[in-house]
Amino acid sequence: MVPLNLRAGSVRDIPKEFWTPESLSVIASTVGHPIKLDKLTETKKQREFRRACVEEDAKSELPDKVSVLIDEDYTIQVKFEYNWVPVKCKNCLVFGHIINTCSMVDLSITHKDIKHQE
Ligand SMILES: [Zn+2]
Repeated sequence: MVPLNLRAGSVRDIPKEFWTPESLSVIASTVGHPIKLDKLTETKKQREFRRACVEEDAKSELPDKVSVLIDEDYTIQVKFEYNWVPVKCKNCLVFGHIINTCSMVDLSITHKDIKHQE
């Protein structure tokens, strides 16, 4: 689960109906499966950015922004900021370890390597 801040380029550009839990869920779903939106988001008290918790898809990279088409008329950029990102192995795409400690890395030693060390 990844805590996520969603920040738009300019708050003035955003229609007030934009920051609903429904539309935030749609935007957050580009990162992963939305688990919850924080209470400030739900009550719309916070103006600078919105928060969401998403369950990240281990098989994909975390995006840093997404373009959102508003009313099929104009596009705004919503930036994603991550307060914390879980450790993920780039080799086997499993959370909890890094590639240096990955048991799935194939070791490859050739005769050339062995001769070089003599
Ligand atoms: Zn691994």
